[in-house]
Amino acid sequence: MVVRYIFILARRNELKYTKDVALSLLKSEGKALEKLYREADAIRHRKMGDEIYIRGIVEFSNVCANNCLYCGIRASNKNFKRYSMSADEILEAAFSMEQSSLSTIVLQSGEAPGIRDEEIGTIIGRIKKETNLAVTVSVGNRPQETYYYWRECGMDRYFLRFETSNPELFGRLHPGCTLEERLACLGYLRDLGIQTGSGFMIGLPGETIDILAGNILLCREFDLDMIGIGPYIPHPDTPLGNTINAYSDNPEVFFKALAVLRLFNPEAHIQQPQLSMRSFLVKDEPLPSREGRISLCRTVHPCNTEKTTFSTRESQAWMMTPISAWTAPPYE
Ligand code: SF4
Repeated sequence: MVVRYIFILARRNELKYTKDVALSLLKSEGKALEKLYREADAIRHRKMGDEIYIRGIVEFSNVCANNCLYCGIRASNKNFKRYSMSADEILEAAFSMEQSSLSTIVLQSGEAPGIRDEEIGTIIGRIKKETNLAVTVSVGNRPQETYYYWRECGMDRYFLRFETSNPELFGRLHPGCTLEERLACLGYLRDLGIQTGSGFMIGLPGETIDILAGNILLCREFDLDMIGIGPYIPHPDTPLGNTINAYSDNPEVFFKALAVLRLFNPEAHIQQPQLSMRSFLVKDEPLPSREGRISLCRTVHPCNTEKTTFSTRESQAWMMTPISAWTAPPYE
């Protein structure tokens, strides 16, 4: 479809949001691409304003039972130290976030079903009781009852990326898990009535622009409240360590995807993937370690709005610095 008609139809609320539309937009070049960025930025401005929301992420454990082919903390990787924060340490981080005027804590870890599910429920309950923070949880696939239990404990939001909308690619990259199972989890979360977030990786080995268009459409179909995307970055200690990003010769695809995502999901909070983008675009820069990682995210591209992130321990002192000092965060 011709790109300029897409914008005309969108403005009249007559656009049918299909994969073909996403594909046409992703293929924009020259003036059409400029127009795409301008439209996405206008929607961002109209729907989300110019504010940047900061979330406090506590990566409370890097223990994971899964073996996703691209992931540095996959169960088979023995080349780094595993850690798990205690409930008291997590609570301490929550208190310091509140003192820093943050309004949301994100409890994130690898996927290890069962191990700490009850403890996570207790931690959610304590955070809700002892602070005014909203609680987002991001710990992977869980049974419906567990999500229900956590919601009863006070969980406000859940974040679970589907990573790719292509079932075959998903199956290849995630041994022991299917896309169907992942999407069922997202369905359970939606049914709970809590805010639900998801998203995908850009440039996974085997991804095509057609699959990328499908990823964007799937975000719209789930009517997500939050969307997180990030480029695939090969990790040396994984089976894909030598496999480069599918768009490594054309990083513009990443920004195009962000813009199309905004067009397809005008009301969603779209996460700011600044740190991962830098790792993608700046060659030979070592990846920061997962533990103690800090990334303050600000708008780097006009079609994005959001926000995010810092994590635990070493980042505490930095987190306490006033926002006015956050003009030159680490890794920027
Ligand atoms: S479930 Fe998440 S943390 Fe675990 S290996 Fe897969 S991507 Fe990594």
